[in-house]
Amino acid sequence: MDKIPGSETGGCLCGKVRYQVLGAPNWVAICHCESCRKATGAMLSVYAGFYDKAFCYTSGTVNTHASSEGVERCFCGNCGSSLTYASTRWPGEVHVLVASIDDPSSYVPQAQIYLQDSVPWLSSAHEIAKFHTTPSEEKEGGSDELAKAV
Ligand SMILES: [Zn+2]
Ligand SMILES: [Zn+2]
Repeated sequence: MDKIPGSETGGCLCGKVRYQVLGAPNWVAICHCESCRKATGAMLSVYAGFYDKAFCYTSGTVNTHASSEGVERCFCGNCGSSLTYASTRWPGEVHVLVASIDDPSSYVPQAQIYLQDSVPWLSSAHEIAKFHTTPSEEKEGGSDELAKAV
């Protein structure tokens, strides 16, 4: 399916589930809550809030999990990628996991929520050793210990 102007495409890791969003999101936020952490397998989750009518699946079918009452988390049943979150708390909205959008670079978060659930080390993660790829691939700048560990 060709991308229509003003739209963005996304999907899961294996490519079976594909979707399209139209226009700019209403908001973009980082969630640190435990529920999202478990659902996505990531220490934080970035969401873009769209109206239902701005979002549609273009291929594949998703599995759903009700992580709380009134909540529907959609994921690919084949590869397990988390794709969206919806809740009766926000009727008419779908919260798209920005990591599943093909080009997530323009979805800049404006807020972080549920920091009470975050781990203390996350806020200082930018201070630790950094590599464009891995220490073993970048012999210079990476210690041998890290190179062996990664
Ligand atoms: Zn998949
Ligand atoms: Zn959350």
